[in-house]
Amino acid sequence: MDRAFEPIVRPVVPALDALLGEPIPVLDDGFVRVIDYMGDDAAIVQAARVSYGKGTKRVHEDRALIRYLVRHDHTTPFEMCEIKLHVRVPMDIWRQWIRHRTASVNEYSTRYSEAIDAARRTAPGAWRTQSAVNRQGSAGRLPDEVGARLSAEERELQERARAVYEGRLASGVAREQARKDLPLATYTEAYWKIDLHNLLHFLELRMEAHAQQEIRAYATAIGEQIVAKWVPLAWEAFLDYRRRATRLSRAEAAVIAAVAAGDAAAATRLAEEEGWLPRTGQGALKSNLERAELEEKLVALGLTAPWM
Ligand SMILES: Cc1cc2nc3c(=O)[nH]c(=O)nc-3n(C[C@H](O)[C@H](O)[C@H](O)COP(=O)(O)OP(=O)(O)OC[C@H]3O[C@@H](n4cnc5c(N)ncnc54)[C@H](O)[C@@H]3O)c2cc1C
Repeated sequence: MDRAFEPIVRPVVPALDALLGEPIPVLDDGFVRVIDYMGDDAAIVQAARVSYGKGTKRVHEDRALIRYLVRHDHTTPFEMCEIKLHVRVPMDIWRQWIRHRTASVNEYSTRYSEAIDAARRTAPGAWRTQSAVNRQGSAGRLPDEVGARLSAEERELQERARAVYEGRLASGVAREQARKDLPLATYTEAYWKIDLHNLLHFLELRMEAHAQQEIRAYATAIGEQIVAKWVPLAWEAFLDYRRRATRLSRAEAAVIAAVAAGDAAAATRLAEEEGWLPRTGQGALKSNLERAELEEKLVALGLTAPWM
């Protein structure tokens, strides 16, 4: 072949190499460790440019291209980067995590080996109350004296469950059957490999305020302590255009434009047309999720809904 190819040097990210194998603690006994990775910011740029035969350019041009790709959902270049993590997670949180089907996973087998002797414990001040507005969420804390009782009960239950489990094993029960009454708080471990496109999707969903606090802790550790070091340009673009961006529907944009223009009557009329507010004189204000989300967006923009 008479074509000359450019020399290839394996991409390395010194900041991530320094982290390899180091457990980043999460919750009381969990962790996330980087086992391996492939690619870096330059690999994203290289993949995007290959279509028109151009190589990596100067850093500020790479940054502009990565930001363009994120802004316009050109996702495949981000699939050129992959990362393999070793994670230790309570089973109830793992159950949410494993719903992300785009990763390759190998989990510790409690059929093959004895279950990990660690279950997540809750500190007396960390018992959360049920949210009144979000049926899937929590809000506020129970008083410490109630928490102290709940934490003591938790310890007793977990220790009893573990003792029963170990008693079954000692009696010769198969590990696959003995494990069935272990609490969901029991830690499991897994190798989890995913490409950057799907990882950012995971982080967007699981760093978000509606995600459960515990999985948010893992997602935040992965995002802020790993991805930010691995692909700083992609991470910055992700924060700017996805994580910290506000998505507006057609109707939301129309109401916000009216509020920003000081036209309270038009904003109210538009909200009424969407069914977010009762028509003037037709009944009391009822709770409405879409309206509540719009109100949050208005507040974030420094505006107030006229009906608030
Ligand atoms: C706050 C929150 C609350 C949740 N509550 C619940 C709940 O109450 N009950 C519940 O069951 N789940 C719940 N989930 C899980 C949620 O519905 C998703 O299953 C989970 O977040 C994985 O998202 P995903 O499918 O986009 O991700 P992945 O599985 O990582 O997939 C990434 C993307 O790949 C594509 N994809 C992957 N597989 C397929 C496929 N087979 N067909 C088509 N496209 C595919 C889709 O575009 C998808 O968005 C909740 C998630 C969050 C974040």
